[in-house]
Amino acid sequence: MDVHRRTVNAAGNSLFSDKSSKSKNQKHDLQSQQSLYLTNAVFFGLFFSVAYFLLHRWREKIRTSTPLHVLTISEIVAVFSLIASIFYLMVFFGIGIIFHPFAASRTVHYDEEDESDIAKTSGLCLAGVSPTLPPLPPKISVEKVAPALVPAVILSSDDEEIVRAVVSGSIPSYTLESKLGDCKRAAAIRNLAVERVTGRSLEGLPMEGFDYDSILGQCCEMPIGFIQIPVGVAGPLLLDGKEYTVPMATTEGCLVASTNRGCKAIYVSGGASAVVLRDGMTRAPVVRFNSAKRASQLKFFLEDSQNFDSLSHIFNKSSRFARLQSIKATMAGKNLYIRFTCSTGDAMGMNMVSKGVQNVLDFLQSEFPDMDVIGISGNFCSDKKAAAVNWIEGRGKSVVCEAVIKEEVVKKVLKTSVESLVELNMLKNLTGSAMAGALGGFNAHASNIVSAIYLATGQDPAQNVESSHCMTMMEAVNDGKDLHISVTMPSIEVGTVGGGTQLASQSACLNLLGVKGASKESPGANSRQLATIVAGSVLAGELSLMSAIAAGQLVKSHMKYNRSSKDVTKLAS
Ligand code: ADP
Repeated sequence: MDVHRRTVNAAGNSLFSDKSSKSKNQKHDLQSQQSLYLTNAVFFGLFFSVAYFLLHRWREKIRTSTPLHVLTISEIVAVFSLIASIFYLMVFFGIGIIFHPFAASRTVHYDEEDESDIAKTSGLCLAGVSPTLPPLPPKISVEKVAPALVPAVILSSDDEEIVRAVVSGSIPSYTLESKLGDCKRAAAIRNLAVERVTGRSLEGLPMEGFDYDSILGQCCEMPIGFIQIPVGVAGPLLLDGKEYTVPMATTEGCLVASTNRGCKAIYVSGGASAVVLRDGMTRAPVVRFNSAKRASQLKFFLEDSQNFDSLSHIFNKSSRFARLQSIKATMAGKNLYIRFTCSTGDAMGMNMVSKGVQNVLDFLQSEFPDMDVIGISGNFCSDKKAAAVNWIEGRGKSVVCEAVIKEEVVKKVLKTSVESLVELNMLKNLTGSAMAGALGGFNAHASNIVSAIYLATGQDPAQNVESSHCMTMMEAVNDGKDLHISVTMPSIEVGTVGGGTQLASQSACLNLLGVKGASKESPGANSRQLATIVAGSVLAGELSLMSAIAAGQLVKSHMKYNRSSKDVTKLAS
C-alpha cells in the first residue's frame, strides 16, 4: 500500500512542481502554432493565386500566339513565387509524411503512460518545428504482476509500517497475532504482505465477516482470510423416528439434489434406522526394545486383564470424558505398536486419547526403563490413512444403518427396479470393488456425503479417508418386491465439541441437526447421534446414485446440475 501511496505522491509532487513550466511550454506552443497557421495560409494563398495568374497568362499567350518563353517581369515574379510556395509546402507536408511512420513505429516502445507526451512530440514534428524525435527510454521488459489490492480492512500508517516489516522479514508473519493482540488486524496485515511478497492478487478471498479470534491457537495459523463453500440441505432424513435437515457443504453440483432424492425415498418408505456398534477413538504409539523378547514382555503386560484397571486409571486422568476401553499390541521385530482405544464423550477425541496415551507411556517408562518411545503415533492408530485395522477393528463410531424401500418407491421416486439395484450393487459395489482391491471402498460414493457433512459441521475433513469406509449392501426382501439397503461404516470419526465444531458457521449446522455441543443427558450422545446422521445420509446418497446409474441417468443429471453453462476458459485467469 505504501509503495503505491508513495508512487502516487511522488507522481503527484512531480506533476505539481512541473506545473508552471508545463503551462509556460503550453503558451509557447500555442504562439508558435498560431504563427505557423498564418505562414501556411500565406503560402497556400500565394501558391493558388500565382498558379491562377500563370495559367491565365498561358492561355492568353496561346490565344495571341505569343511565345511562351517570353516573360514579363510580373510573370517572372509569379514563377519565382510559385516555386517558393511549392518548396515551402513540400518541406512542410513532405517531411511530415516521411517522418510520420517512423514516429508512429517508435511510439510503440513507450509505456501507456507516455503516450500523451509522444502524441505532443509527434505533433511538433509534423508541424516542422523540430523533426528530431526525443531520445527514447531504454526498453525494459517488466513482468506484469497483479496489482496489490486495497485491503478489505483499511490500514493505518502504523499498519503500513508493519506490512513493510513483514515483507522485509524483520517481523515474522507468525508473530503478528501475539505482537498486535488483534487477530483481525493481524490477518489483514498478513494478507497484504502476502500479496506484496508474491505479487499475486488475493482478490476474491474475503477478510471481513469472520471471527479470527475464534481460530487462534485451535483451528488455523497465519490466517489471511477464509474461503466460502456453499451449504445446501438435504432432507428431511427420517432416521430412528426423527427428522433431520442435513447440511452439506459442497461445490459438486448434483450431490445435494441426489441425496435429497434418497432422503425422500427413505421417508416415504417409513424411514431408516441406525445402530452404533462401537464408539472409541484410538492412538497407537511405537516403542522399541533391544530384543523382540523384551518387547513381547510389555505386550503381555499390557494385554493382561489384571493390569487393565491400573492402566485405565492412569489413562483416564487425561480428561473427565476419556475412558480407556482396550489395549491391543502388535509386534514388528523388537518394535511394539500399542493401540489404545477409549471413549471420548462428544469430542472426536484425538487430543484426549493422545493425552491419555502419554500418561500411560510415562508410567510404563518407570516399569520398563529400557523402553524407547519412538513416537506417540506409530500409524497403527490409524489416522487419516486407509488401513485395514480401522476397517476391521473400527475407529471412532462404528455404525450400521438400514432401510426397506418399497417397490413402488423404487419405481416412482428412484425410477428403477429392485432387481436392477440388487444386481448393480453386487457387480459394482461388491465385485467391482473387490476386483479393484478396495480397502473399505465397497460403496458408490460414501465419501461425497461424508466430506460434505464434515465440512458443514466442522469435522476434520482429512478424516474423510477412514470415515468413508463403507460397505453398501442391497437385497430383495418381502418376496422379492421391496429393497433392503444397508450401509456398514466402521470408522466414522465425528465430534460435536472441540476443533472446528465451535466455529460460528459449523456450530449453526450442528444446531440445525440438534447435536450442537456437549450432550447434557449423556456425554457422547450428541456425537453418536451425529455419526448415525452421517450414516443415514450416506444411505440416502447410495440409494439415489445407484438408482441413477441403474436407470442410466447419471451422465444426464450431471450435465444438468454439474456443468456450468459459462465458458470456463473465459473465466480462467
Ligand atoms: P479432541 O479430543 O476431539 O481433539 P478437544 O480436546 O479439542 O477435542 O475438545 C474436547 C474438549 O471439550 C475437552 O477439553 C473436554 O474436556 C471438553 N468437553 C466438554 N464437554 C465434553 C463432552 N461432552 N465430551 C467430550 N469433551 C467435552
